[in-house]
Amino acid sequence: MNQRPPSRMNQRPLVVKDHSLPRLREAFARRELAPFRADQLAGWIYGQGVEDPGRMTNLPAELRERLGRDLLLHALELESLERSEDGTRKGVLRARDGARVEAVLIPEEGRTTLCVSTQVGCPLACSFCATGALGFTRNLTVAEIVDQVCRMRAELEPGRTLSNVVFMGMGEPLLNLPAVLEAIRILVDPKGLGLAPRRVTVSTAGVVPKIAELLRAAPVNLAVSLHATTDAVRDVLVPLNRRFPLRALLGTLAALPELSRRRPVFFEYTLMAGVNDAEEDAERLVTLLAGIPSKVNLIPMNPHPDAPYLPPAPEVADRFLGVLARARLTATLRRPRGSDIAAACGQLALRDARASARALRDR
Ligand code: SF4
Repeated sequence: MNQRPPSRMNQRPLVVKDHSLPRLREAFARRELAPFRADQLAGWIYGQGVEDPGRMTNLPAELRERLGRDLLLHALELESLERSEDGTRKGVLRARDGARVEAVLIPEEGRTTLCVSTQVGCPLACSFCATGALGFTRNLTVAEIVDQVCRMRAELEPGRTLSNVVFMGMGEPLLNLPAVLEAIRILVDPKGLGLAPRRVTVSTAGVVPKIAELLRAAPVNLAVSLHATTDAVRDVLVPLNRRFPLRALLGTLAALPELSRRRPVFFEYTLMAGVNDAEEDAERLVTLLAGIPSKVNLIPMNPHPDAPYLPPAPEVADRFLGVLARARLTATLRRPRGSDIAAACGQLALRDARASARALRDR
């Protein structure tokens, strides 16, 4: 039987940023558009940062007319942008269904990093994290992840370019892995957003069965939110530890051939006064990480109303760092960025958005 392609009228709109370039070319072909037009469109939206069809001068009028009607460019709108005293900027971005997420731009000497979200809320409920206190609404789509980069990149100060993207915002990236991987393909494609893969970092709280899949599919950096050196403490801070305890997590990392001194695991360790900041914790950390190519980021707790934890005194944090340094473990003690606008690690919680997140979840 002769199968005719579905008429344009019956097709759902194509969300352009949902697709890496090879898939976008195929989608164009299915819509009776020349595949090279996908490359031209990617050149405008990713290469030039232009999303106004009227400025896409090398596209035929018919295609420009279809943009915004059956080829959709925008997945998110920038609802608000706050600026911290230290230059950190937090964007609140709204999806088509009203869901909102946050993305944070962190300008530093010589580089600019964007921290993106992968879920609306988070199901993992880490006890120190404001996002965890929101509960979980839904996964973000590929386009919603990529559009955080497009929208926030447009807010860069003149002369700055985006150099790094970290998947450390709201949500657990490995629970939305297919969308995260397709977004990474767009981020690192020279005809997409053109980032070097080693300038992309994906963070996990320890979804053990998905770690190898991530590293095999994408040559990006891996960050692991560790935060504790015993199962008893980690069970409380990161409840996922009850399913994948320290031995399973660290044993998996030690066995991964993709990891090396040139591609170490970045362990995130939030220092909380009286909880995980003792010298014995530092010594245990050294023992636990032996055999795993590691870099440790120590982050003094950013206090917020949803968690009972406080940062340690500076001398306690320095002592912790000293134990790691003496053991020749590469470690840095980070200065919290953007804490005055609740943009620091663990603080992303859409301060005024709890009601809307719950309403959306309950629909
Ligand atoms: S720390 Fe990460 S994984 Fe844990 S609740 Fe917060 S967003 Fe989710």
